[in-house]
Amino acid sequence: MAFSKGSKLYGIVRMKCPRCHEGDLFTNPNPYNLAHFSDMPRRCPVCNQSYEPEPNFFYGAMYVSYGYAVALFVATYIVANSWLGLGLWQTVGALGVVSLVLGPFLFRLSRSTYFHLFVHFDPKSAEIHRAAPTNQRSSSADIATKS
Ligand SMILES: [Zn+2]
Repeated sequence: MAFSKGSKLYGIVRMKCPRCHEGDLFTNPNPYNLAHFSDMPRRCPVCNQSYEPEPNFFYGAMYVSYGYAVALFVATYIVANSWLGLGLWQTVGALGVVSLVLGPFLFRLSRSTYFHLFVHFDPKSAEIHRAAPTNQRSSSADIATKS
């Protein structure tokens, strides 16, 4: 299935750990809790995947964010200007409102997308972590990140 556990789309949209698709990427489930919308645990609570595999890993998510922003602008422009027939400044206003409203969500979606590009689903990762002795957990997760 295209939208079930194990598919990239599922992991990205549900904002799950890219390795096990079970652990949440963000500490707070609500992206509109603005004080904590970008908070992420250091590691996946389910499979122990590091959520910062390299220093400043998520800087690259800015490029993904840019892509989503362009797509959002084009879509908003088409709806506001062509379908609804709004004028220039109303369309600009609509772009501003849509950007503000969807901003925190797109921030998270960009991070999730970027992370899923580099770390791939491993259906056994959650079981391995549960079975592994505590002192071996972090090392096994780090190796999986590099492969
Ligand atoms: Zn995980």
